[in-house]
Amino acid sequence: AATILPMMPEARVAAPITPKEAVLIAEANFGLLKASAHPLPGEYDDNFQLSDAGGNSYVLKIMHPAREESFVDMQCRALTHLAEKLPSLQLPRVRPMKDGRLFARLEPGDGIPRFVWMLGFVEGMVFAKATPHTTDLLASFGKLLGEIDSALLDFSHPATDRPLKWDLSKSLWAREFLPYIKDKSRRELAASVLDVFERQALPRFPYLRRSVIYGDANDYNALVTQVTGQAPRVSSVIDFGDMHFGLTVAEPAVAAAYATLGQDNPLAAAAAIVGGYHRAFPLTDDELSVLFPLMAARLAVSVTNSAHRQSLLPDDPYVTVTEAGAWSALERLAKLDSPQAEAVFRAACALPEPFSSVPRQSYKESLAARRNLLGANLSLSYDEPLKIVAGSRQFLYDETGRAFLDVYNNVPLVGHSHPRVIRAIENQLLLLNTNTRYLHDNILAYAERLTELLPAPLRICYFVNSGSEANELALRLARAHSKREDVLVLQQAYHGHTSTLIDISPYKFNGPGGRGKKSWVHVAPLADDYRGEFRRGAPDIATKYAAQIAEILAGLKREGRGIAAFIAETFPSVGGQIVFPENYLKEAYRHVRAAGGVCVADEVQVGFGRLGTHLWGFETQGAVPDIAVFGKPIGNAFPLAAVVTTPEIAASFANGMEFFSTFGGNPVACAAGLAVLDVLRDEQLQKNALEVGSAWMEDLRALQTKFPLIGDVRGSGLFLGIDLVTDRDSRAPASTQASYVVNRLRDLGILAGTDGPHHNVLKLRPPLIFSKADAQVFNAVFSTILQEPAAQPNS
Ligand code: PMP
Repeated sequence: AATILPMMPEARVAAPITPKEAVLIAEANFGLLKASAHPLPGEYDDNFQLSDAGGNSYVLKIMHPAREESFVDMQCRALTHLAEKLPSLQLPRVRPMKDGRLFARLEPGDGIPRFVWMLGFVEGMVFAKATPHTTDLLASFGKLLGEIDSALLDFSHPATDRPLKWDLSKSLWAREFLPYIKDKSRRELAASVLDVFERQALPRFPYLRRSVIYGDANDYNALVTQVTGQAPRVSSVIDFGDMHFGLTVAEPAVAAAYATLGQDNPLAAAAAIVGGYHRAFPLTDDELSVLFPLMAARLAVSVTNSAHRQSLLPDDPYVTVTEAGAWSALERLAKLDSPQAEAVFRAACALPEPFSSVPRQSYKESLAARRNLLGANLSLSYDEPLKIVAGSRQFLYDETGRAFLDVYNNVPLVGHSHPRVIRAIENQLLLLNTNTRYLHDNILAYAERLTELLPAPLRICYFVNSGSEANELALRLARAHSKREDVLVLQQAYHGHTSTLIDISPYKFNGPGGRGKKSWVHVAPLADDYRGEFRRGAPDIATKYAAQIAEILAGLKREGRGIAAFIAETFPSVGGQIVFPENYLKEAYRHVRAAGGVCVADEVQVGFGRLGTHLWGFETQGAVPDIAVFGKPIGNAFPLAAVVTTPEIAASFANGMEFFSTFGGNPVACAAGLAVLDVLRDEQLQKNALEVGSAWMEDLRALQTKFPLIGDVRGSGLFLGIDLVTDRDSRAPASTQASYVVNRLRDLGILAGTDGPHHNVLKLRPPLIFSKADAQVFNAVFSTILQEPAAQPNS
């Protein structure tokens, strides 16, 4: 095989040295008096902890017979070098022999010569066992490694340049040994991590620093001590046998890899190590860009090595000491992406984001700057606002690398930073981004794809950049068509932030700072079957709510007026995650059309499969609007919005006045929109929304039977509402408890929000890749919170 490995014999070639013999060697060669010995674990060598009559402790190292002199010499010299350069650290010190030599080749009883040397014993608890691994503890580990590597910059020794299987830059050797991993999915996982290493890290190697590094910062090699009154810290590392001349960044990468073992937030643990290292010995941009694939590669090499050695030494526990933890860490890391990890690492190092010149501010600085620079009513979520630096799939990462399960954001429909959407945007940006006064195929392809997904007669598209712009445009279309001005809306509705839309959004004009209802605006009751006038279970409630619309229209007619448009969300979100009674919209539209009005469906929140059963909300109501409005998730967070209408309305709008939106429908936005539709189809996300959402709703209803605070669970697919009440009979909203629950969820790593006129409805609308396991995490955390005193109905 072309591999440089194995360089070491893979099994013992001699019987282990006994403790008795170790004592004899120590007394004869190192002058210890009345020594006692007990064996320490080791992969190849025979190591012993010795105590002597003076109460001193040492480590006697009797090397594997195949070890070379230069290998021992390297370690002795490096430790002597470090003792001189870092005298205050408690690193192992070489204890010379009686004759002053640092090591010697001796022949124990079996006559096989071996190199023997001795170190002072370093006190401390093994890092792997010194839990919890707090951020400070992890940072102290990083710092120690940075100090060591900095001190090793002027150390050289020919043996540092030897082939070594733990040289992270050589990780691809593990490929040949992958077949030793018996489990197929694990084998594929390790293989894919090595592929990522090859693609993302290897090409950057020419740009990375190389230096002598300690090289083996695993969680069994670091020692933790605690001075009374101070926090515990990593004060030493042991076993310098993997020292080598290699990639400098491999040092923190290895430590970070092992630091993820057993961590709920692996990236945060890794980031703490990286941040600590960077402060002692600054990393370069190129190094930070490869840290994540290097980390993952180290775990892949470790599990592959374990599998291989297990086949040779089935009974040796040392071989597999970290194997189980490494697999689960690898499984977690494989779910993360390099760019997100890099952003988190850079945040931990207080460096700007990748490719950005924006200086990194601390959390506190950002908070203060925001207060000074941005409008005060640009509100922040949560009592303790979040600073988010990266997003991937259904997770958002704060500046420390802590992961939050995103149950709130519906805009990243197919998941945060979906690679296919990013690639589509990038590729188009490389070519062109311009306005719609030229022919371009992206906008046409998108219009074609979108209208294919809509029922006739919704065939004519207009593209803009936000939900607000789209609703504005929808109103212009309706007014142009009907030649009227008045608008009918539902109670508590929100349709956008422009002047006209504030005027038609009762949530705003009736809310704080609102200036009340304009005379051309008419408000119909919200068809809320939980809190409204007609409730779930009563007969014909859809007809009754729709009749309220007919009544308003009849009243207007008597005054000689009529409406241009009836605009409603198909599942009112701000209204409190409302599910209309069956066929309500169909009947409401019938009344509106009979009165000459145009029916506008605001699909900004729920469109594109979120509801599971249907692609669009109006379909669940058996209704077809005259104008449909799409926004938020349409571009998976890239600005894009659309208005789709009938040829007749479009003709009325084409009245001579030009319609032009500079950015609307630009090639990049349409490329994003197309990619979203592709992912939605290829990953079958509507189906996932239905399956996960239905099971989740069932589980939440089971929780409802246990917790009286839960008054109602409603929704469809991955658009759910949990209505919290202080009293189930009166349905009195539990607003205080809802705010408490949302803040506690945030503390425990889950992002949700509240809505409804009383802010008592928990709104759940995660990216559509949300899994049943994610839902279970939510349920477990949610039910823990529901048991807390502040979450009781009477609190
Ligand atoms: N319509 C609805 C139903 C919305 O929820 C929103 C935004 N919350 C909008 C329109 C306005 O969209 P945007 O913020 O993109 O302008």
